[in-house]
Amino acid sequence: MTRIHNFSAGPSTLPVEVLEETREELVDYRGAGMSLVEMSHRGPHYDAVHSEALALACEVFEVPEDFAPLALQGGATLQFSMLAANLLAAGGVGAYAITGTWARKAVEDAARHGEVMTVWDGSSDQYRRAPRTDELAVEPGTRYLHICTNETIEGVRYTQWPDVGVPLVGDVSSEFMSRPVPWELFDLVYGGVQKNLAAPGMALVFVRRAALEGLEPAVGSYLRYDVHLAANSLHNTPPVFSVWVLGKVLRWMRDRGGLAAMESAAAERAGLLYGAIDGSDGWYRCPVEPSSRSLTNVVFRLPTPELEDRFVAEAERAGLSGLKGHRSVGGCRASLYNAMPLDGVEALVGFMEAFREANG
Ligand SMILES: *Cc1c(COP(=O)(O)O)cnc(C)c1O
Repeated sequence: MTRIHNFSAGPSTLPVEVLEETREELVDYRGAGMSLVEMSHRGPHYDAVHSEALALACEVFEVPEDFAPLALQGGATLQFSMLAANLLAAGGVGAYAITGTWARKAVEDAARHGEVMTVWDGSSDQYRRAPRTDELAVEPGTRYLHICTNETIEGVRYTQWPDVGVPLVGDVSSEFMSRPVPWELFDLVYGGVQKNLAAPGMALVFVRRAALEGLEPAVGSYLRYDVHLAANSLHNTPPVFSVWVLGKVLRWMRDRGGLAAMESAAAERAGLLYGAIDGSDGWYRCPVEPSSRSLTNVVFRLPTPELEDRFVAEAERAGLSGLKGHRSVGGCRASLYNAMPLDGVEALVGFMEAFREANG
């Protein structure tokens, strides 16, 4: 078996132990004579998988009791609409801080479901940093402030959580469970699972139960949080495969020390790579201000676009995959999620040094 180092932003690398265990169980699930993905989602096998995955999600992510976990299809993108359709159902304004591509998409979709307001926009500065709390002019009574805690494409992350006196709603897709969340500041935390947590196919949402009380969103049943909450995310056929893999990844995380261990491993990986970038006499450059640098999506530039193309192609041949920056911004990007071993980053740093020597 040849496994290469996968730096793709998403879908992305998963622990090999999880893939092997899934393969072992795929055809005949625990003696049932059929696969988990072939059997009823109302039967005892899936029921156990589903309950365990949701319980583990709350355990590993250290989610307080007053939040409910929901496993929903449509990825993080559907949440852009769904959170606004639900949280703004009784009126009110959703405030948005635009730190990059994903925050911008979130406000564009939300505007179709309620009143929104942009309170900060980093586009004029090429999205090089996250705002400080004192730059966010959020009126008291605003229903929520939406933030993308880590911009996957621009590599920008909030290192300080904004505390603006209204509840936060956070898209954590690309740093899901590699960092603890100050739950007291939030009404809702969500993300697609394919970046840091599981096989593609769903979003995980953690919503403060009290935030849903008395709401009557004028949308179909699938788009209502209260419907999924009442049905324990079994309102309709759930994304069985994603939930199954999620449970395995969460067990893998828990057995390795949980959130604290994931957070320190993320800091170690990112520290190694930023160290190589900063130590290259400006040959490699990170456009993001040091105070806002992502630990999971490290973006960097080389002296010319031609060198960047050659870098990505030669890295690929050396077994370092997925280093091309997003097509909208160019450059290079290494995504370093929970399942990326440190030796993957060491291999990348070694390659970067050799490439610079050969081309510098
Ligand atoms: C990838 C990503 C999304 C979109 O996720 P989908 O699950 O594909 O809809 C949204 N927000 C962030 C921060 C992302 O990284």
